[in-house]
Amino acid sequence: MNDKTHFGFQEVDVTKKAEHVGDVFHSVAEEYDLMNDVMSFGLHRLWKKILLELAEINENSIVLDIASGTADIPKLISEEFKSASIHVTDINASMLIKGRERSLNENFFHNCNFALASGEKLPYQDNSFDLVTVGFGIRNFTNKFNGLKEMKRVLRPNGTLLILEFSKPTNYFFSKIYDWYSFNVIPKLGGFFAKDTESYQYLAESIRMHPDQEELKNMIIDAGFEKCKFYNLQNGIVAIHKAK
Ligand code: SAM
Repeated sequence: MNDKTHFGFQEVDVTKKAEHVGDVFHSVAEEYDLMNDVMSFGLHRLWKKILLELAEINENSIVLDIASGTADIPKLISEEFKSASIHVTDINASMLIKGRERSLNENFFHNCNFALASGEKLPYQDNSFDLVTVGFGIRNFTNKFNGLKEMKRVLRPNGTLLILEFSKPTNYFFSKIYDWYSFNVIPKLGGFFAKDTESYQYLAESIRMHPDQEELKNMIIDAGFEKCKFYNLQNGIVAIHKAK
């Protein structure tokens, strides 16, 4: 019998999760950016800017962004560090194509390389990068620990890992309002703007199944990283984990 994992609140074969996640992102790719702005009231832009402030890079740095989607994080890095070399990767062709088109339209193509790649099996040599970033991606991995070990493998000694991801609100009353918003409003917004209620129901469920701040920190340390700390944003709705 195959091992099981979760896809939102459903239990699925581990061999099938990537396919289910793939279906979600093929479906939402077209309206992905609009939905991010609508659902987060634009706050995701601020969270990504804060991520960049923690990056410890310079114009000569080599950066890997995993699960890049429509390339928000590569765009920010490219605008700030015009000569840095940025590897933009995603497992999903629909999302990566949107990112690549955007880099051409919005003029940040010059220092970006695009590759279709899984964050759980990276097609890069050991010790290749000064910075690895993952924004709202690791939650969707089939095996998060394997992904973290891959990130450690491709980072250079003293390189920086930054993971931006939904996490657990720290205030009980706030978390109740957030739960209500997640399960009653977000799927409806998905239905209205992206014509896809189910994918946004998955979003709400996958957030609840994702390790909280401390659990993810421990996974990062177990994967071989040092100096791991996290920063809660918006009451812990989102956290940035940083490690060396
Ligand atoms: N980083 C972008 C952002 O912050 O807006 C996109 C985040 S989007 C919510 C999640 C992305 O993770 C999707 O583009 C999806 O295809 C990608 N993804 C899911 N599983 C992945 C995996 N195992 N390896 C690489 N990318 C993955």
